[in-house]
Amino acid sequence: MRLRNKPWADERLGEFPNYAIAQPESHKGKWRELFGNDNPLYIEVGTGKGRFITEMAKAHPTINFIGIEVYKSVIVSALDLLIEAAVPNLKLLSVDAVNLADYFEKGEVDRVYLNFSDPWPKTRHAKRRLTHSSFLGIYESILPEKGEIHFKTDNQGLFESSLLSISDYGMKLTFISLDLHNSSFEGNIMTEYEEKFSKKGNRIYRLEAQYR
Ligand code: SAM
Repeated sequence: MRLRNKPWADERLGEFPNYAIAQPESHKGKWRELFGNDNPLYIEVGTGKGRFITEMAKAHPTINFIGIEVYKSVIVSALDLLIEAAVPNLKLLSVDAVNLADYFEKGEVDRVYLNFSDPWPKTRHAKRRLTHSSFLGIYESILPEKGEIHFKTDNQGLFESSLLSISDYGMKLTFISLDLHNSSFEGNIMTEYEEKFSKKGNRIYRLEAQYR
């Protein structure tokens, strides 16, 4: 993700406190109260400019969604999409996924989406991959038993290392596609990166995995 410095991003996010949640730790264990219903909660980690999570929220009104992105200068674009969509079932958090357990109770999140996560190809940076065992442990601490991760990427190296780390962690792989766009998978919602890289002819890999 190319970062443009947007010094106004913080102020802009602050203008929409119902959409961009400023103090997520104060909602730990109480996200359903904030949404005003008991619907399942799905989060996307590394939501970027937010197309996927906004389209998901529009397509699935009986599910609550939260888009999580570390950079305010990036999530501010997701905020624009959310303002336009004006859906009640989507919130945005500008936080680092490493701290997710500070914001969600065990079992409070029903599914984690990871889309086109940064590949961090060098071995010495492997711990930064969002499918590294340390992150799998963090997701496990907020998901219920048998909670799910859904992951897609165009990066073969990241996909392979993720398959390894997920199966080494003891999770069950319940879906694998090595060419999502030429498969029978229905209901795919494209992310910004997915559109860009599939237009270049890159294959899209996708997996679903479940904790035991
Ligand atoms: N998911 C979007 C898509 O497919 O178009 C964006 C993909 S972009 C390559 C990855 C995004 O993940 C970046 O915006 C980056 O800032 C975010 N990210 C990476 N590590 C993160 C972390 N630890 N916590 C939250 N966001 C993170």
